[in-house]
Amino acid sequence: MKKTTGTDRAITQTWRPATQAVRGGTWRSEHGETSEALFLTSGYTYDDAQTVADRFAGEAEGMTYSRLQNPTVAMLEERIALLEGAEACRAQASGMAAMSTALLCQLSAGDHVVGARAAFGSCRWLLDSLLPRFGIETSVVDSADNDAWEQAIRPNTKVFFFETPANPTLDVVDMDFVCGLAKSRGIVTVVDNAFATSALQKPMDFGADVVAYSATKLMDGQGRVLAGAVCGSQEWIDEVLLPFQRNTGPNISPFNAWVVLKGLETLSLRAERQSANAVALGEAIAGRRLEMRHPGLTSHPRHELAKRQMTATGPVFAFDVGSRETAFAVLDALELIDLSNNIGDSRSLMCHPASTTHAGMTAEARAEMGVSEGLLRINVGLEDVADLIEDLDRALDKAGL
Ligand SMILES: *Cc1c(COP(=O)(O)O)cnc(C)c1O
Repeated sequence: MKKTTGTDRAITQTWRPATQAVRGGTWRSEHGETSEALFLTSGYTYDDAQTVADRFAGEAEGMTYSRLQNPTVAMLEERIALLEGAEACRAQASGMAAMSTALLCQLSAGDHVVGARAAFGSCRWLLDSLLPRFGIETSVVDSADNDAWEQAIRPNTKVFFFETPANPTLDVVDMDFVCGLAKSRGIVTVVDNAFATSALQKPMDFGADVVAYSATKLMDGQGRVLAGAVCGSQEWIDEVLLPFQRNTGPNISPFNAWVVLKGLETLSLRAERQSANAVALGEAIAGRRLEMRHPGLTSHPRHELAKRQMTATGPVFAFDVGSRETAFAVLDALELIDLSNNIGDSRSLMCHPASTTHAGMTAEARAEMGVSEGLLRINVGLEDVADLIEDLDRALDKAGL
């Protein structure tokens, strides 16, 4: 294996994102393949016993076992880090493997975590159910309330954890303020950037320490594999994340890593077009006076902030049709848009969060975080937006909206 492109880090790190997306992190074997090779192997062989001893001692470069290193996975990690502008990245089996690893690797009993109230259902489960079982205190705050973050800090607060925009309420966090506050108190900020990806938003530019991903979403972007990633400083990855990851094994399969590598090549094109389609579709139905939650529309309370933090506002928005019954009627009337709870896909997908992604929470917890009974969430894909507008208009008409 050698690198025929990207051998000089001083140069490769100056490449712009569109270049990194198709070139970053590429290693080539002696065959000189253009597309990244898929190394579907769990182990490695060695020329002699001293070589393997040196590798295990950390005194020689080289792979020893795919829970520790794999060439295809390493290419993905390097490419994600270059796109993020992060010093280092480690890929994970799924977004939830990334979130749980990013939190558990640095927390111990007696620590305290402040999280955003509006979050992906499983992220809330980590805060509400998993961490407390290990003696880690957690609090949740209204992430749009800057004062609430400050008031929630305790002497033992170790981590701030949030997503922005949030799933599925589309709350937008003021990253300059929240990350700056964390920094001033020695708190590590972990941002779940699955909705936007580095193509649209770079939390580290606003002071985030750790950026964690579900790469299942926009990074794969074609609804094929589960994948995740955690980015941070080299020191944090080496000293905090790696000891946990190497010994607990939330690793991504090389095959899934390879699929995501291919997805990254078109990430920014898809992210930009899907964002534009999402704004056009949102504007087309905004006249119906549904309660819209769309950071790309001026009606969003933090539209200006979203525009400052993001180059485009992403493929996902939500709107409230008043009741579960009406929400189901809209979903059942769709002809083109699929009824599906995934996001980031190149196909348009729509779901009712209260009965799917957030069904595991109590009705009170859903109400508190803004997941109302009439809320519908849509992932806007790459189809012709005129067809999407016709489909959604027809379904809203049929449901009497
Ligand atoms: C989907 C999602 C996750 C979980 O990712 P998986 O790949 O499904 O495990 C975490 N956070 C956010 C914001 C998500 O949208």
